[in-house]
Amino acid sequence: MSETREVIIVGSGPSGLTAAVYAGRAQLAPLVIEGVGAGGQLMLTTDVENFPGFPEGIMGPDLMMRMREQAVRFGAEFVTQDVDRVDLTTTPFTVAAGTIEYKGESIIISTGAAARLLGLESEARLLGHGVSTCATCDGFFFKDKALAVVGGGDSALEEAIFLTKFATSVTVIHRRDELRGSKIMQARAFANEKIKFQWNSEPIDIIGDTRVEGIELRDTVTGETSRLNVDGVFVAIGHTPNTDLFKGQIDLDANGYVITASNSTATSVPGVFAGGDVQDHVYRQAITAAGTGCMAAIESERWLEESHHDQ
Ligand code: NAP
Repeated sequence: MSETREVIIVGSGPSGLTAAVYAGRAQLAPLVIEGVGAGGQLMLTTDVENFPGFPEGIMGPDLMMRMREQAVRFGAEFVTQDVDRVDLTTTPFTVAAGTIEYKGESIIISTGAAARLLGLESEARLLGHGVSTCATCDGFFFKDKALAVVGGGDSALEEAIFLTKFATSVTVIHRRDELRGSKIMQARAFANEKIKFQWNSEPIDIIGDTRVEGIELRDTVTGETSRLNVDGVFVAIGHTPNTDLFKGQIDLDANGYVITASNSTATSVPGVFAGGDVQDHVYRQAITAAGTGCMAAIESERWLEESHHDQ
């Protein structure tokens, strides 16, 4: 058992680390439980060209290292462990990692979300080298290239439409012959001349050693295999928010995302705030995660001031 901290931040992607910088500068000495896979989704990317302040671009892991250094500079303390259990039903709140229980007057949840992947060995090997889970992040690298998008939901259609700004053609590969995405997105995708559809198809391999050269598909009806030559593959089969720890303790939406109040990072539990992809399934950008991490730190500071004042 350790002393009660004013703020405990769970997670260390752009949201958690920005919250740590702000909470540190507010003299709250935040404790960041960064997780064993510290740094979040940007650790899986290569060049980040859209984070303001880096006109030449920056590698995802470098950006996260710099954010962490900045948080340390202002007094954030880091624990490199995964959180196993939380108790948000009594104050101070409890965050347990291994055998240690940390107590916090306020908690900032920044546990992020994970893009769902197909689970192919080649997909893991080529991630960041032609395989991507984010068109907004990586589309720019595929000017005048042929691309594939895997999935049939709104994300896949949105990514496909976005990618036509750069690509010569975008083939949407869907495992059924009917899309899951909304009618309006379907209409937009069908009307786009650069978008083709490969129905009843599932990827069984992504071809290429160091860069993507094509994708091997299996027909889900006939079982026949075929090859599609593309320079990039965008996997858009959904995201999973990392909220298992919080189930039953704070309000989550039907897809498992933390529900926050309008224009706020406040959750259903007073003193518990959430920033980044764990509460955002719309923008999912490093800069928006950093923005809501900043909001969470400011809101927790104000909440601590008010609760100390009431005592
Ligand atoms: P989703 O609606 O769950 O769609 C996932 C798609 O991926 C489905 O078509 C699914 O196929 C396919 N899929 C899943 N696992 C697969 C696998 N292992 N192999 C091949 N295909 C697989 O996810 P989403 O598109 O990310 O959307 C999530 C939520 O956000 C939805 O509510 C959506 O409306 C919303 N959203 C809205 C917008 C917008 O309005 N602009 C944009 C993005 C997302 P099946 O159809 O066969 O299951």
